[in-house]
Amino acid sequence: MLKGFYPGSFDPLTFGHLDIITRGLSLVNSLVIGVGVSATKKPIFTIEERLEMISLEISNCLPDQVDKVQVVAFEGLMVHAAEQYGANVILRGLRNTGDFNYETQMANINRQTSSPVETVFLAASPEISHISSTQVRQIAQLKGDVSMFCPTSICEKLKAKLN
Ligand code: ADP
Repeated sequence: MLKGFYPGSFDPLTFGHLDIITRGLSLVNSLVIGVGVSATKKPIFTIEERLEMISLEISNCLPDQVDKVQVVAFEGLMVHAAEQYGANVILRGLRNTGDFNYETQMANINRQTSSPVETVFLAASPEISHISSTQVRQIAQLKGDVSMFCPTSICEKLKAKLN
């Protein structure tokens, strides 16, 4: 049985994240989506808001997979959180060489610390590989349209939050 752990900030959830979640679910028996509590990043949405938004989108977009998905908050190292939830693989998306360099370094550090958790990378789908939450936040803050990057319910929450 394979249990995946997909960590991220999800501030906010984008079509890129949903693509990794959908494709990841075809590889594992169950998936824990971990929303990281970061002491350094200043998010737009609180942890509670992000947990709720992600759960809602999973029910909307993947209604028949809901039972396989758990959405949780975590603090500290992702590898510790993955172990805590009994996951055997960490799932990450690779968009570009920046992601590749950062993610492979992180995966190797995790392995060297003797974590039993393997990291599995999914190449971003080309049509959405340019999407990042950071840019979605910046565009939304400048009152730009982000409807091509995020599901409708997320766009509405962004608008309400920033107005
Ligand atoms: P971001 O890097 O966009 O601020 P996160 O920190 O929440 O978002 O990213 C969590 C994970 O999702 C990372 O593994 C990241 O590479 C992946 N990811 C984010 N956006 C995409 C995308 N457009 N396509 C594929 N993977 C993505």
